[in-house]
Amino acid sequence: MRAKITECHTQPLKVLIVEDSLTFSGILKRRIGESLDIESNVFGSYAEAEKYLENAHCEFFAALLDLNLPDAPNGEIVDLVVSHNIPSIVFTGEVSDDLRDIMWAKRIVDYVPKENLSNIDHVVSLVDRLRKNISTKVLIVDDSSTSRHLCRSLLEVWNFEVVEAKHGREALTIIKNDENVSLVIVDHYMPEMDGLTLVKELRRKYSKSRLPIIGLSGVGGATTSAYFLKAGANDYIHKPFLTEEFYCRVTHNIENAEYISMIKSLSDRDYLTGIFNRRSFFQYGEKLFEQQRRTGSNLAVAMIDIDHFKSCNDTYGHNVGDEVIQKVARSLSKRFRKSDIVCRYGGEEFCILCTGIDLCAAGSIFESIRSEIEQSTIYVGKKEIEITVSIGLCCTQSESLAEMISIADDMLYKAKKGGRNLVCSSEY
Ligand code: GH3
Ligand code: MG
Ligand code: MG
Repeated sequence: MRAKITECHTQPLKVLIVEDSLTFSGILKRRIGESLDIESNVFGSYAEAEKYLENAHCEFFAALLDLNLPDAPNGEIVDLVVSHNIPSIVFTGEVSDDLRDIMWAKRIVDYVPKENLSNIDHVVSLVDRLRKNISTKVLIVDDSSTSRHLCRSLLEVWNFEVVEAKHGREALTIIKNDENVSLVIVDHYMPEMDGLTLVKELRRKYSKSRLPIIGLSGVGGATTSAYFLKAGANDYIHKPFLTEEFYCRVTHNIENAEYISMIKSLSDRDYLTGIFNRRSFFQYGEKLFEQQRRTGSNLAVAMIDIDHFKSCNDTYGHNVGDEVIQKVARSLSKRFRKSDIVCRYGGEEFCILCTGIDLCAAGSIFESIRSEIEQSTIYVGKKEIEITVSIGLCCTQSESLAEMISIADDMLYKAKKGGRNLVCSSEY
């Protein structure tokens, strides 16, 4: 039997498909390969799958199973694959209430009626979700070990990594020490700190999109739901719940948070290079500037501009120019710490805000960056391109970020005037 996903030493990478219709399994395999770049192993019968699974430990993070196979007509394949701890999505014919109950009792991920091809999109997105869940951590906060155990076992079927806390205070400690918790599921009544207090505490620091919270309780009915939502929970599930409802709410909340984080990243980042754009440079830079000024820490601002870039475009074409900008952005961001801000300020111009920098050393740091770029050859296909940059550096501790940028700009102008491929720095 395969270990639980959390016990696998290597991450399982493949999808198991057991389906006797070659046409259907072929479509599934192709769509999963094309849309998700995931490999699938296909077996046409129970016997073939059983033989393979004897030696396949930790290979599969998901399985797509036909409920009725010629050599296993009553869903035996589901029991086999689930017994290997492989999260299973089941294809069924018509779904009756009885069949639904039987399916959920087998601890499957979901069932999908086979009737039309549009379901394949749903299956592909489920597979994608199961892969993402391997690195998605959910914290269950509940004083009842039975409740925690039930939630954990449901979440593990969907590949989630699960951590547990017995009350609100323990949950706060866990979240404080682990930035990677993606969802909190929280009970109402608990010793030490109850669920509503925990939600309010968490909301002081984390937004609804940064840390989604679902309240979960069997007492109080609609009032408890309203209390949780008003305290800042994203959602509420009343106990006892249907397995399907639980999975839908967990998935919706995690996916909403992911979408918001994706939109935020798109609005913060420059499309071509992936580094910060000018808008977010000011948004985060102003905060960092104030923070560093308060602590008396040193700051430096550098403006970096590629020399004669217009002729690079004219000689090699705009696409090659784009790649040159990308490579310069990559080599600049490699040189700085996460606490510094590297942005694309304009076309071929970059701006960097360095915090806690030794001002005596700042000039030589940027001089080494200039020299590294001068000496490196940028390869775009078979073309070898050599470029240089001019750098204006502001080490003068000024009253505002705008003033430091303006000084760095003047220094850049001086470097250009002085013949380019130079670093010019203001006094500190
Ligand atoms: P200097 O040494 O004085 O900085 O000269 P330069 O040619 O680098 O400066 P200029 O401002 O004359 O030209 C900048 C060029 O950068 C013009 C513009 O078409 C090009 N550019 C701006 N953004 C992009 C971009 O995203 N991709 C590409 N390929 N080129 C861009
Ligand atoms: Mg309780
Ligand atoms: Mg230029």
